[in-house]
Amino acid sequence: DAKKAGGSNQPSSGGGVDIPKTVEQFGEWFSQVCTKGELIEYYDVSGCYILRPWSYTIWEHIKDFFDAEIKKLGVQNCYFPMFVTKDVLEKEKDHVEGFAPEVAWVTKSGESDLEVPLAIRPTSETVMYPVFAKWIRSHRDLPLKLNQWCNVVRWEFKHPTPFIRTREFLWQEGHTAHANKKSADDEVITILKLYARIYEELLACPVIQGVKSEKEKFAGGLYTTTVEAFIPTTGKGVQGGTSHNLGQNFAKMFNIEFESEEKGASKGQKNLVWQNSWGLTTRTIGVMIMVHGDDNGLVVPPRVAPHQIVIVTIPNSKMSKEELDAMDAAAEKLSGDLEAPGAEPANPFNAIRSKTDLRSNYTPGWKYNYWEMRGVPIRCEIGPKDMANKACVFVRRDTREKTFCSWSEAKATATALLAKMQAEMLERARKQTQEQCCTVTKWEDFVPALDNRCMVLTPWHESVEVEELVKTKSSAESDGGAAKTLCIPFNQPPLPAGTPCFVSGKPATKWALWGRSY
Ligand code: AMP
Repeated sequence: DAKKAGGSNQPSSGGGVDIPKTVEQFGEWFSQVCTKGELIEYYDVSGCYILRPWSYTIWEHIKDFFDAEIKKLGVQNCYFPMFVTKDVLEKEKDHVEGFAPEVAWVTKSGESDLEVPLAIRPTSETVMYPVFAKWIRSHRDLPLKLNQWCNVVRWEFKHPTPFIRTREFLWQEGHTAHANKKSADDEVITILKLYARIYEELLACPVIQGVKSEKEKFAGGLYTTTVEAFIPTTGKGVQGGTSHNLGQNFAKMFNIEFESEEKGASKGQKNLVWQNSWGLTTRTIGVMIMVHGDDNGLVVPPRVAPHQIVIVTIPNSKMSKEELDAMDAAAEKLSGDLEAPGAEPANPFNAIRSKTDLRSNYTPGWKYNYWEMRGVPIRCEIGPKDMANKACVFVRRDTREKTFCSWSEAKATATALLAKMQAEMLERARKQTQEQCCTVTKWEDFVPALDNRCMVLTPWHESVEVEELVKTKSSAESDGGAAKTLCIPFNQPPLPAGTPCFVSGKPATKWALWGRSY
């Protein structure tokens, strides 16, 4: 209500989020948070969205973290073309079968048909590996570790959702080649752990790490590891990021061979490389919004917030021009103090991303709403009394908790508050996730647990047939949709010999995590 907030002459902020975060209206709520929080703008190609600076900056924080970490592992960035010919795309049979329905093709230039239609990369295994065969000659060329930050296109048929399921998305794709399986296996896990850190340390979203079932693994790969996130409001899982061991399948198809260094190996003996690929997308931002947003809009965890603190002054009509100027100057000075690097370079909040909002054509109340909708972690207020006391108030976005402090203590107080907020956001989300994760040993309890918005851990006889059976049965027994395996968690509770599978009655081989999912 612009009028109430400070007069009709004020440009509208678009109004606040007016749909509560409930399971019934979750889609509408999400869409409002995305648009009113200025994260995305809708576009006239279905499934494609404009990423506005507010969300792109969050992506940059994720990117900066991951890019620095993979460089420590010796990964180098590069760029490959986005087009791939039909022949090359179809080289690995399982791979193309998995992706074919979603591949977008370029068939024309102007009015003339292209001689050879070109696919737009849905992922770049087939784009990169023909040249891997050229670049890799001997064991000295291994491991080869490349990554690219780019867009890919998957013409998905499932309902599109901003960030979570889009037809074009931004990601990084790592592609590495190793001399042996052990080296590849180790890297798969190292990367998965980095993905888990992005979710947990940066986005404050807990994830479950595990292996995908045979049915759900990457097309053409040997095995897929995953970080699975969870949206408590809807009770749905989300595949957060995947790190694949591709085995030697692609190496076989693309002839990626190297001369061995093994003693006794006859000269010229060729071995196939072991390959990995791993990808993390802008879906991360969607998970963050869904987990942390509230009835008032977005809540951005401090680590990835474009502005961590916004300072708002509270002038009143009795103040003189000099007093108003002094208040603005105090806000600028405080902002500078917050931004100045402190004495702990390793502390992620050592230098705070601070901003003043001194726009005189908006009231403080309007500004509070504006920054609240955008999820700025902490608002700092400076009013006339604070000027007299050389003090300010910090207000946390997630809990509304207020902290009063002097200007001289502001930097230390804010640093501690941001760290506390970051930790508590993760803790809260973790608690909710744990509360909605239940263990089920017989079929009768399975669908009711899903309907109760839970992820379900069950003893399972691993097989594609049993997974298909669960899909059919769960879909028939409830309107809520079919369940699938989210993963086989690394963290396996004890499974006593003879424990039956919850649905087939056959001997269980693993504990599997099931759920409805995005
Ligand atoms: P993949 O190459 O299929 O393993 O995909 C890598 C990651 O991309 C998955 O783990 C998902 O988190 C994410 N992802 C898959 N499809 C989409 C999509 N349509 N929009 C956004 N992210 C996606």
